[in-house]
Amino acid sequence: MEGPDRKKGEFDSVNYTPRGTNFLPRDEESHQAEERGDGRGVGVRVRKAWCDMHRIVILGGGTGGTLAANRLRKAFGTDEAGITVVDRDDAHVYQPGLLFVPFGLTHPEDITRPRGRQLRGGIDYRTTGVDRVEPDQQTVVLADGSTLDYDVLVVATGAVLAPEETEGLTGPGWMERVFTFYTPEGAAALEQALATFDHGRLVVNVVDLPIKCPVAPLEFCFLADWFLRERGVRDRVDLTYVTPLDGAFTKPVASDRLGGMLAERDIELVTEFNTGEVDGAGGRLISFDDREVPFDLAVVVPAHNGAPCIVRSDGLGDEFGFVPTDEHTLQSTSHPEVFVLGDAASLPVSKAGSVTHFEGEVLVENVHRFLRGEPLDASYDGHVNCFIETGFHKAMLIDFNYDMEPLPGHYPGDVGLPLLKESHLNHLGKLLFQWVYWHSLLPGRDLPGIHSTMPTRGKRQASAV
Ligand SMILES: Cc1cc2nc3c(=O)[nH]c(=O)nc-3n(C[C@H](O)[C@H](O)[C@H](O)COP(=O)(O)OP(=O)(O)OC[C@H]3O[C@@H](n4cnc5c(N)ncnc54)[C@H](O)[C@@H]3O)c2cc1C
Repeated sequence: MEGPDRKKGEFDSVNYTPRGTNFLPRDEESHQAEERGDGRGVGVRVRKAWCDMHRIVILGGGTGGTLAANRLRKAFGTDEAGITVVDRDDAHVYQPGLLFVPFGLTHPEDITRPRGRQLRGGIDYRTTGVDRVEPDQQTVVLADGSTLDYDVLVVATGAVLAPEETEGLTGPGWMERVFTFYTPEGAAALEQALATFDHGRLVVNVVDLPIKCPVAPLEFCFLADWFLRERGVRDRVDLTYVTPLDGAFTKPVASDRLGGMLAERDIELVTEFNTGEVDGAGGRLISFDDREVPFDLAVVVPAHNGAPCIVRSDGLGDEFGFVPTDEHTLQSTSHPEVFVLGDAASLPVSKAGSVTHFEGEVLVENVHRFLRGEPLDASYDGHVNCFIETGFHKAMLIDFNYDMEPLPGHYPGDVGLPLLKESHLNHLGKLLFQWVYWHSLLPGRDLPGIHSTMPTRGKRQASAV
């Protein structure tokens, strides 16, 4: 696949979208058009839908598509809306579990379930590829050439890995001494390699941002440190974290804390490294400005793009295939009947399951409001919540939003899980989350005490620590 040009080292490629572009639904526009007498007729398709059933099509049956479909099914009676979910396969992977596969703590088959079974009754599930959207026609073209018309489209096609965009990455050494744990196959192959790795240079490299779960590569470093110590070979392994950022993480307080934790564990931090080439045969990462980091075993998080079907959809996505989206309403900035959630959205927020979940609550409310012709709810505040596994049966928790960076304290209130602090309780929370994912988050149930907006209670300014 031909990808966008990354040679400039544009690691911060998230787009900031204009606020407050709350489009009216098309039938509302058509009433106005009729009153104006300009005869644009944009409401014809939706007027039919008011008489019959609303047609809601959801692209992607991963975290976002599944929870949105289940919440929408609860919000609309089966006589009010037809809901169709399209995904190319029937294997739903709990992606946070991929972190644990290389260390033999779980296996791909233990974190994978059939997609269709995660959907409530009354949802039409199609296992086929999406070729493209024709947004001006409000039509989805499927890989077999058939089409689906919609009144509302929900784009939840996620992000795809683009290892082929980095010179040499998939060349000699790929899946032999150069791995990624971001796919089930890669994570399983890395488990084999790590099991016998007992000396040399282990390098963890983020090629470019945005990536899914930006803390996952740091978690990998912490777990690798723990794993190698457990095996009694840590003193024979040099562990290095190589990132395009100017610190361990993007947010200053968390970056300081995480950078300190790398140093405590004797993990070298190499910053502002924009990987231009991976020389698998020679064991070298080479940056665009000709710096080199040698390795014996490399764990690489490749560049991410939006889904290729979005690139093929005229006027829907940006040059990377992410969909420009209003950051508070989750409505596409170009097409009012399109709503976007999860990794597919071009938003200044982490690509994370927690984000997808919080966005989902607002998105479902807005699909409802849009179809009723009401003003949209602009309450999504960029809430992110993330457990960071730190090894030795501990984890840290961070909670932040567009305006507030991760702060110490407790979540979700004055009493709760410790923030920005390693604890066994957080580790248990991280492990428990898999159960919550399958049984509560995906089915679209509300989690007690957890809301889409970020809680401020329980948080302290960093200086007060
Ligand atoms: C290693 C790893 C660890 C992670 N850890 C965490 C964590 O600890 N906490 C956290 O909050 N998040 C974590 N995440 C991120 C989280 O998994 C994602 O952000 C979340 O799954 C995004 O949901 P989504 O619905 O946007 O995308 P996905 O769940 O990826 O779903 C996208 C779906 O779209 C489908 N699709 C795409 N294109 C097409 C097409 N053309 N035709 C048909 N179907 C298509 C795909 O098959 C896929 O099923 C992690 C991710 C990884 C990889």
